[in-house]
Amino acid sequence: MGNQVMEQCDIAIVGAGMVGAATACLLAAQGLSVRVIETQLPAPYAPEQPLDLRVSAISQASVALLELAGAWQHLRQMRICPYRRLETWELDGFATRFNAADLGLPQLGYIIENRLVQLALLKRMEDFPTIQTHTPAAVTSLRQSADEAVLMLDDGTELAARWVLACDGAESHTRKLAGIGVSRFEYRQHCMLINIDTDFAQQDITWQQFTPSGPRAFLPLPGQHGSLVWYDSPTRIQALAAMSNEGLAAEVRRHFPSRLGSFTVTGKGSFPLVRRHANDYHAGRIVLLGDAAHTINPLAGQGVNLGFKDVACWAELLQGAGDDWHQLALAERYQRRRRPDNLLMQSGMDLFYGVFSNEIGPLKLARNLALNLADKAGPLKEMALRYALGLL
Ligand SMILES: Cc1cc2nc3c(=O)[nH]c(=O)nc-3n(C[C@H](O)[C@H](O)[C@H](O)COP(=O)(O)OP(=O)(O)OC[C@H]3O[C@@H](n4cnc5c(N)ncnc54)[C@H](O)[C@@H]3O)c2cc1C
Repeated sequence: MGNQVMEQCDIAIVGAGMVGAATACLLAAQGLSVRVIETQLPAPYAPEQPLDLRVSAISQASVALLELAGAWQHLRQMRICPYRRLETWELDGFATRFNAADLGLPQLGYIIENRLVQLALLKRMEDFPTIQTHTPAAVTSLRQSADEAVLMLDDGTELAARWVLACDGAESHTRKLAGIGVSRFEYRQHCMLINIDTDFAQQDITWQQFTPSGPRAFLPLPGQHGSLVWYDSPTRIQALAAMSNEGLAAEVRRHFPSRLGSFTVTGKGSFPLVRRHANDYHAGRIVLLGDAAHTINPLAGQGVNLGFKDVACWAELLQGAGDDWHQLALAERYQRRRRPDNLLMQSGMDLFYGVFSNEIGPLKLARNLALNLADKAGPLKEMALRYALGLL
């Protein structure tokens, strides 16, 4: 392939997941030419499809970003479930409750299937003739100079870009090609996602009960559906994963709060929980966004919301730089803004995880009093909620 022509673009984005696709829409809207490289696009949406297992609690700030990207209108035509109340407790009677009405908001956020968020963004990408997608395709090598980065794709394309944005997820190959290391920590808990059909009409509350072996959570889904999240030891999760849906339902009845009501299990999947943080958010012109830069304990459903904050920050920096959008210094500025914020959220989740993952008597009492106190903390409680919703 020695005589092939090198293709040029302003921005190359590796990975068209939620983060990569949102970045493509925002940067194309700024007038930049964008190439997107994706190994596998998701199956198209059909209303009769059963609900996916992978869902996210999309915060108000993320909704604003999806609106700005022009994808929210498409999502509204698929499946979304607003939630207005959030409750967390360990012992009965010691709960912290949050309500959208306390903040004067119509909802705290939405529970949405990851694939649908991605599909809505991919649909919006079609509006931009300046976005070109290579799929199925992957990056095989990269090199860079002071002015540009050059990617070799496995479809034979050689592509030069001012910026290469690695949005290829937790195991980012682009991050490895750029030589960026990660710190990695595997939690002692794994996590099981269980989709259920419930007897209740569509619910607007998400709740989480802490137990010594891990939290048990409920997320409402559109219609009479819900998603259960069961955190427990790897061996326990493995045993649950091997059960039939009926057997699993019996275990859920035994171990989840009775407020769940009657239900049937319709799907399940299990995941290890891993915290990762890239040592650097860029190497020259290669910049990491979303899970490629950080993964977090999903305890508070913040994963993709942090990714969308990366996207908003990067888009803002490029726009603010005007004609200097390709200056290398922007990557350093991005890292300075985003790394401490992501680290703070990771550490916050680890603190929760540490405090709630044991049966030490005095600590158990203290954390329940803290939950109860948090419920009455007025402005402090409101501030914590605003931060979690991405409004601070
Ligand atoms: C159990 C669990 C529960 C979670 N719950 C929540 C939640 O409630 N709320 C929340 O906000 N987050 C949650 N998350 C996290 C959330 O799923 C991730 O933060 C989110 O998917 C990250 O999006 P992304 O676009 O950065 O990466 P991904 O979703 O991983 O997308 C990466 C994209 O890159 C593509 N790709 C991969 N490799 C290559 C390559 N070499 N070349 C080209 N393309 C490539 C992939 O096909 C994919 O399309 C949860 C995670 C887990 C594990």
